Amino acid sequence: MYNPKSHKAEEFIAHEEVLASLEYAEKNKNNLKLIDEILSKAKKGKGLSHREAAVLLDCEIEEKNNEIFALAEKIKKDYYGNRIVLFAPLYLSNYCVNGCVYCPYHSQNKTIPRRKLSQEEIKNEVIALQDMGHKRLAIEAGEDPENNPIEYILDSIKTIYGVKHKNGAIRRVNVNIAATTVENYKKLHEVGIGTYVLFQETYNKETYERLHPTGPKHDYAYHTEAMDRAMQAGIDDVSLGVLFGLELYRYEFSALLMHAEHLEAAFKVGPHAISVPRLRKADDVNPDEFDNGIDDDTFAKIVACIRIAVPYTGMIISTRESEECRKRLLHLGISQMSGGSKTSVGGYFNPMPEDENSAQFDISDRRPLDEVIRWLMELGYLPSFCTACYGSGRTGERFMEICKEQQIHNFCQPNAILTLKEYLDDYASEQTRAIGYKLIHGEFDKIKDEKIKEATKTYLERIEAGERNFRF
Ligand code: SAM
Repeated sequence: MYNPKSHKAEEFIAHEEVLASLEYAEKNKNNLKLIDEILSKAKKGKGLSHREAAVLLDCEIEEKNNEIFALAEKIKKDYYGNRIVLFAPLYLSNYCVNGCVYCPYHSQNKTIPRRKLSQEEIKNEVIALQDMGHKRLAIEAGEDPENNPIEYILDSIKTIYGVKHKNGAIRRVNVNIAATTVENYKKLHEVGIGTYVLFQETYNKETYERLHPTGPKHDYAYHTEAMDRAMQAGIDDVSLGVLFGLELYRYEFSALLMHAEHLEAAFKVGPHAISVPRLRKADDVNPDEFDNGIDDDTFAKIVACIRIAVPYTGMIISTRESEECRKRLLHLGISQMSGGSKTSVGGYFNPMPEDENSAQFDISDRRPLDEVIRWLMELGYLPSFCTACYGSGRTGERFMEICKEQQIHNFCQPNAILTLKEYLDDYASEQTRAIGYKLIHGEFDKIKDEKIKEATKTYLERIEAGERNFRF
C-alpha cells in the first residue's frame, strides 16, 4: 500500500507506514549501534529517511542527543551560513466557510469581526509593510468561494506587486490559501507567486476529519494531495507544515518527512521550505483544550531532526513563538522568520484595539522589524531581504541542485549583504544602522571568490549613491 511515488494521499502517507516507523523508532531509541550508523549517514549532509529520522527523534541516549543538536547546528551553518531571510504575513480576508476547530476563522464563530481588504486597502497595507523594509510577503486568506474567490486573490497579488513606494517593492509574494484545483494553481503560477504554502495541520486522517468537521477542508485526500496539483500546475516551490499541538508529534514528524520524500520521488523536487507552527490562543480557541501540545525541549528536538533529515529544505518560524524560543531554534536550523507581523486583517495600516480585531491567533514576538533585525545581528546572524532566486529562475529542481551542491552560498551571501545595505540605508534606526554597517564590513571580508567580491564592492558603492536592486 505504501508508495511514495503515488499521487494518492492514502498511499504516499500510508497510515501503516507511519505506525511502522513509530514502532521502529520506539524499538531502537536506545540502540547505540543503529543510532551511530544513522548519525554517520546524517553527517554526510545528504539527509535521512523518515524511519531513520524517527529513531533520532526518539533517541534517549543523552550523549547522542547532544550529537544530534550539534549536527543540526553544523548542517545549518554548512547550508545556510549565518543568513536569516525575513518576511511578513499579509492577511487579506478572514471570511471562511470551513469548520476547523482550532482556528477562530471557523464559520460558526460569530464574535470575530469579519473583514476583507479592498484593493485600495491592500495598497495601504503594502505601503506600511514597505515602509518597515519588507520585500517578501506571505498572503493569507480564509476559504470562502464567494468572498475570497481565486480572482480576488489574483487581483490582490497584482496589486501587491504593483505598489512602488519610495525605494520599496514587494518582490516575492508567497501564497497561503486553501487547497484548490490545478486550474487555479495554474492561475497563481501565471501571476508570478513565489512559494505555495499549505499546512497539512495533521497527517492523521481520523484526527484530521474530526478537527475539520465541516466545509471543503473536511476532505483529507483533497487537502493532502494539494501539493501534487500545485506541482502539476507548474508551481515548483511548495512549502509544507503541520500545526503542532493537534496530534501526537511523532506521528506528524514521520508523516511530514514522508510527504517531503513523496514530492522528491514523484516530482524530483522536495519542499522548498517546512514551517513549524504551534497552536496558539485565539479568539474562541483555547490551546489547553487540545491534548497534544509540545514543550520547548521537544520542539527544539523536532526542529533539529528536521534540519538533519532534509538539509536542503528551508525552515520557517513565525512570530507565534517568543523571542527566547526563536533564538534557540535559529541555531538548530531555522533559515527564515517573520518579523513585525500582524495577524489581523488590515493590521499594518490601521492597527485595531485588541478586543475588536480580526486576528487569527495571538502573536508572541511583538517586536518591530527594526528591533528584530538588530537582535539578529547582535546574535551574529546576517538578516537578508533577498528574493533573487525567484527573480532569476532559481526555483524548483534548479534551486535544489544548487542547494544540494552547497553552491547557494555564492549567491546568497553577497545578496544578503546587498539587501541588508539597502534596508539599513532606507529603513533602519540609527542604532540598527551602526551595528549593520559594521556587520556588512565583516561579512564582505569573508567573500572568497574574488570576482564576486569585486562586483559586491561596486554594488555597495552604487547603493551608497542611491541606486537599488543589484543582485547576483
Ligand atoms: N485558510 C487556509 C487553509 O485552509 O489552509 C490557510 C490560511 S490560515 C490563515 C494559515 C494557518 O494558520 C493554518 O493553516 C493553520 O495551521 C494556522 N492556524 C490556524 N489557527 C491557528 C491557531 N489557533 N494557532 C496557530 N496557528 C493557527
